[in-house]
Amino acid sequence: MTLFKRIIDGEIPAKVVYEDDDVLAFLDISQGTPGHTLIIPKEETASLLTASPEVLTAVSIASQHVAKLLMEKLGASGVNILSNANAVAGQTVFHYHVHVIPRYDHDELTFTFKKHENDIDRIHQRITQ
Ligand code: AMP
Repeated sequence: MTLFKRIIDGEIPAKVVYEDDDVLAFLDISQGTPGHTLIIPKEETASLLTASPEVLTAVSIASQHVAKLLMEKLGASGVNILSNANAVAGQTVFHYHVHVIPRYDHDELTFTFKKHENDIDRIHQRITQ
């Protein structure tokens, strides 16, 4: 059983900020910025890659709701919404979740995409052939 299933079942405490029939949203224990929240479906599924359309829809709608809630209540100016799928991408809890990370003017969080010498034409060809 995953850690997040234990949170759903109430075995492990969490700082819940939003809940409905399908999802639970609670503060991430490591706050990337103040208000960093995780949205998880109550139905168990490993990641975004395995989630059903219904689960994806419920999590997506809740993510927008929570993003607006965090912006309103905490005075954030924007959000990053991301989901890590599989260990190579940094996933550590294998119950689908979306990070909603409020962004503030002059906060110090950075996501950088470094330039690489990849052949973009070849990559495009591989994906679309
Ligand atoms: P990921 O690395 O995308 O799988 O995200 C898992 C997230 O769960 C990490 O950002 C952790 O900080 C967070 N986390 C781990 N344990 C807890 C917990 N008990 N309550 C809240 N968040 C947690």
